[in-house]
Amino acid sequence: MKIHEFQAKELLKAAGVTVPDGIVASSPDEAAAAFEQLGGKLAVVKAQIHAGGRGKGRFKEHPDQPGVVLVRSAGEAREHAERMLGSTLVTIQTGEEGKQVNTLLVEAGLDIASELYAGVVVDRAAGGPVLIMSSEGGTEIEKVAHDSPEKILNCNVDAGYGLQAAQVRKLAHQLGLSAAAAASAQKFLPKLAKFFTDNDCTQVEINPLVVTAAGDFVALDAKVAFDDNAMFRHADLAELRDL
Ligand code: ADP
Ligand code: MG
Repeated sequence: MKIHEFQAKELLKAAGVTVPDGIVASSPDEAAAAFEQLGGKLAVVKAQIHAGGRGKGRFKEHPDQPGVVLVRSAGEAREHAERMLGSTLVTIQTGEEGKQVNTLLVEAGLDIASELYAGVVVDRAAGGPVLIMSSEGGTEIEKVAHDSPEKILNCNVDAGYGLQAAQVRKLAHQLGLSAAAAASAQKFLPKLAKFFTDNDCTQVEINPLVVTAAGDFVALDAKVAFDDNAMFRHADLAELRDL
């Protein structure tokens, strides 16, 4: 079962994983109000569909309109929302038919120093979760794996004990993180791994995982899917299903 980015970020935030400030909007007026409420000079309007590649995706009805867009005023947020809501977004992951956008996430713009990749999936050979990381954030991990496989780092997680400090230290070294970013990784990554096991996820993908100028880790994007066979253990999560 897949959930939307805004739902994933609410759950991650509750689990102590840092996400940007954001407000859900389902009308152009709400998008404009969200910009004001966030109170910054820069915000991002993000189409909520069960597929990635939205930044590079375009709408059938508005061929120049991307599915993720930076805005600098409430008026701009409103104009983009008018084009996006009710329209069909086509991305590399939706297929030609695309997906209709009914909900937007308006998020505070971040001061991005670098973009990493972090994903947790099940490693069936190892019989447990594996944390996959790369310094090449923002691009599709399949492409990184194909073009430069040496930039993909794997770290098996013990489902009982969780991700260990020594494992995070090794990853931080391999990723060439600053001391501040490495400290941030020690807080962020074990919580991300724990979120995966606590919720019986099949996928938790943070791409990009942003390192801010201050060295803080922030989940800029979030793609979460749960194991349908475990949903009986998570009645609260079943409510998040959006057909
Ligand atoms: P998708 O993977 O579906 O294209 P993302 O959430 O990864 O969507 O957003 C695409 C790009 O938009 C990011 O790689 C980032 O460069 C930019 N972006 C998204 N959210 C923000 C934000 N809050 N602040 C600044 N830039 C952002
Ligand atoms: Mg992304």
